Amino acid sequence: MTAQSSVVFSGQPDFAVLGGGLCGRLVAWRLAGEGYRVALYERGDAAGSGAAAWVAAAMLAPLAEAAVAEPLIAELGAASLDAWPHLITQLPEPVFFQRNGTLVVWHRADRAEASLFERRVRANAPAALFEQGGFTPLDGAALAQAEPALAGRFNQGWLLPREGQLDNRQVLAALAAGLAERRVATHWNTSVADDALPPARITIDCRGLGAKPVLSTLRGIRGEVARVHAPGIGLTRPVRMLHPRYPLYIAPKQDDLYVIGATEIEGEDMSPISVRSALELLSAAFAVHPGFGEARILELNTQCRPTLPDHRPAIVWDGRATLRVNGLYRHGYMIVPEVSQAAAELAAELVTGRVADAEGFEHWRRAARWAPMLRLAGARETCASGTGA
Ligand SMILES: Cc1cc2nc3c(=O)[nH]c(=O)nc-3n(C[C@H](O)[C@H](O)[C@H](O)COP(=O)(O)OP(=O)(O)OC[C@H]3O[C@@H](n4cnc5c(N)ncnc54)[C@H](O)[C@@H]3O)c2cc1C
Repeated sequence: MTAQSSVVFSGQPDFAVLGGGLCGRLVAWRLAGEGYRVALYERGDAAGSGAAAWVAAAMLAPLAEAAVAEPLIAELGAASLDAWPHLITQLPEPVFFQRNGTLVVWHRADRAEASLFERRVRANAPAALFEQGGFTPLDGAALAQAEPALAGRFNQGWLLPREGQLDNRQVLAALAAGLAERRVATHWNTSVADDALPPARITIDCRGLGAKPVLSTLRGIRGEVARVHAPGIGLTRPVRMLHPRYPLYIAPKQDDLYVIGATEIEGEDMSPISVRSALELLSAAFAVHPGFGEARILELNTQCRPTLPDHRPAIVWDGRATLRVNGLYRHGYMIVPEVSQAAAELAAELVTGRVADAEGFEHWRRAARWAPMLRLAGARETCASGTGA
């Protein structure tokens, strides 16, 4: 333990949360808000720079993501999008949050991509998402009105008006402040190994890819992004460009900062971004708006998305005193309000003894809102091969 917390409990805490990236911070903060005594252990710093959450674009796009995700993810995303504003108002520091929609564009030569995208979204997204705004087709004039920065550059597109985004690093900072406010014992720069777990009644493992030793089916999917400063372009919402080889998003944050991403490459390679990826991302951004030619590159980043075989998040109880929350893949920000809420609810059941065995778990699971995410290790379909603990 390299960074002891100033919060000291007499006796062991109720919960030890391992991993203070996105999910661990939120689970710890929720449980502390319920009055539990919580300790959090994070291998990296308090800023969160060691987490996948640090490099993410933090788009909250359940409809756009339905092109590559199943209905459960779209539903979790839609519910979470509604939950974020309330959650943010409870944090002690401001977080940039916007619900100004996503703009989807494509070049005329790539119109086949557009119909494929629409077919996939219509197949995977719950009907309610369409009823609540869905797709608004835009011709060139309407697109220019919606997003003046792109006037004259695309002659058609879709506006997905209800989607959102936030500033990932502000979320991590505000959650760190929220943990301090709620008297969570935070241990930053503290790596936890599975054979030396910290004392607690219940352990909640939110280590992302760091849980691989106990979640053998977990894998990383490499993602590379650029962060650039581009004054004068003035995009007002995330823009996705459909392309058969170089699909791209550009997410505008505050102060003319843009996150441009992202590659999706199988493998747990955390080495710096390749020249090929950097060229592709930046050229594609330049093709969306030539103003990016004068942007200043602030960072080129790589991280790996923690991913389970079915590309779903999972909350896995080992039948004893450990809960694992993992597999948030490319949708962490989009779904974490609901995932962390479900995890915190199950954690409370375990620590109070209201769920104490497989039968009790199954009873509770059946009544839970997000039952498909909840699993008992060793039961059929579990993701946690070889956990035992
Ligand atoms: C390039 C990229 C773009 C993305 N864009 C989006 C997006 O637009 N929208 C969206 O919703 N999601 C996006 N994501 C996905 C999102 O970032 C992840 O789903 C999310 O960060 C997963 O949260 P997590 O807490 O499970 O893992 P992480 O955020 O990785 O946190 C895990 C934490 O555990 C810590 N840890 C690991 N091992 C140990 C140990 N032994 N002891 C203690 N601590 C440990 C790590 O240091 C880390 O801080 C993106 C991801 C990437 C890589």
